[in-house]
Amino acid sequence: LEKRDALIDTTEHDSLQTADAKHLLHPWADLSTLGDENALMIQHAKGVHVYDSKGKQYLDAIGGMWCVTLGYGHEELIEAMASQARKMAYYTPFGDVSSAPSAQLAEMLAVLTPGDLNRAHFTTCGSTAIDSAVRIAHYYYAAQGRDSKRHVLSRRNAYHGSTYLAASLSGKAADRTLFQYESEFVHHLSSPQYDPDIAKESAASRLQTLLDEMEAEIARLGADNIACFVAEPILASGGVLVPPQGYQAATREICRKHDILYISDEVVTGFGRLGHFFASEAHFDIVPDMIISAKGITSGYQPLGVVMISDRICDAISAGAPEEKPVFSNGYTYSGHPIVCATAIKNIEIMKRDGICQHVREVGPYFIEQLRTLIDSDIVYTVRGDHLMACVECWTGDEVGPTAKNMALAQRVDQYCEQDGLLVRPYENLCIMSPPLIVERSDIDRIIATLGSALTRAQNDLRAGLLH
Ligand code: PMP
Repeated sequence: LEKRDALIDTTEHDSLQTADAKHLLHPWADLSTLGDENALMIQHAKGVHVYDSKGKQYLDAIGGMWCVTLGYGHEELIEAMASQARKMAYYTPFGDVSSAPSAQLAEMLAVLTPGDLNRAHFTTCGSTAIDSAVRIAHYYYAAQGRDSKRHVLSRRNAYHGSTYLAASLSGKAADRTLFQYESEFVHHLSSPQYDPDIAKESAASRLQTLLDEMEAEIARLGADNIACFVAEPILASGGVLVPPQGYQAATREICRKHDILYISDEVVTGFGRLGHFFASEAHFDIVPDMIISAKGITSGYQPLGVVMISDRICDAISAGAPEEKPVFSNGYTYSGHPIVCATAIKNIEIMKRDGICQHVREVGPYFIEQLRTLIDSDIVYTVRGDHLMACVECWTGDEVGPTAKNMALAQRVDQYCEQDGLLVRPYENLCIMSPPLIVERSDIDRIIATLGSALTRAQNDLRAGLLH
């Protein structure tokens, strides 16, 4: 009773902040400020804009968290969710029970994905899709009596999620504090970025170094012991790290040569961010063995992850399943959830009808070109990205990278952006951007103008010694 009596009125901004400060442990919370009553309370949103509880408007250059692709408050997506909820919100997807939205979505995805990736296994998010994909790789080899093939190759600076295995595959050094990770069968290759603006070597030589390292690691572990290579085409959360040209195709070839499954993590690059439903084939000329995706698949309106699996893998899995228990023991209560799948179907229909990928192919290069004008700022070390995923790397002019000073500087840029109604994603000394795919040139102009002014003000603070 006492507890109930103490419930606060959550309609008030201040009490919401108090409730948040007292009771929420946010994903990726800054523990040094845990309990501080200063959360930015986002209350409603429309188009490319979000509004805080005081009514202030922000242009959301983060797209929620790389996921709100069609913008906020899209009536057709809302109606798709509501009408499926009225029909049937949920029924179990296990075994041989199905629902119309999951079957229809699986068929749509089979058409959109390249090659013979014709089978969809639905999960709840990107992390569970990664876990499932690795389990499928293990199952695939075990079904052929090749149980030794269980090691997994990833890269430093990768981000694959927050379940135990996905976090272990992730390779950002800063995230490896206090938590335990799987290290017995997970191995990290070098972070593969190549930035031509600052590189001291040619793209070809950088590529060769990366490929040599991969071959050496395969030789060290033994190809007979390796199940799969997991890779984002462009490393998103690690800092929009773009590999040298040809890297994806060459690593794909190495995997084929050694009979290692290639799992492409298109959680961010899928569903239009690079101007295609899937970037693997259209943008990087590869057909992976599995593609996983999430985020933009529902435009962020519902949580959904998917593993798209090749027929070759599926056939081998079913052929090799044990006679006494031929069960694929993986899946979630909410795999193929009807409301979630209905949302994804509507999202794909709208994307096709409104030519969203074509739109990204038009505005994406403009976004990057305009962002690159900011390189002239003394506190911008480099600008990198591709279509609608990009980042600005800040520095004080001394040391490069996520030093305390550079991070403070980027944080100041972020604060000024927020003050002026623009949300970018601060990460270490970077300002990361992934705006909704429906951004217009005028929105892009506003992003550049606001960011440019924030950079100038942060630079003035640096000169005046006002940065700590
Ligand atoms: N893979 C990539 C490339 C991601 O960016 C993310 C999330 N940022 C994930 C996997 C994990 O997705 P989720 O947060 O939906 O579990």
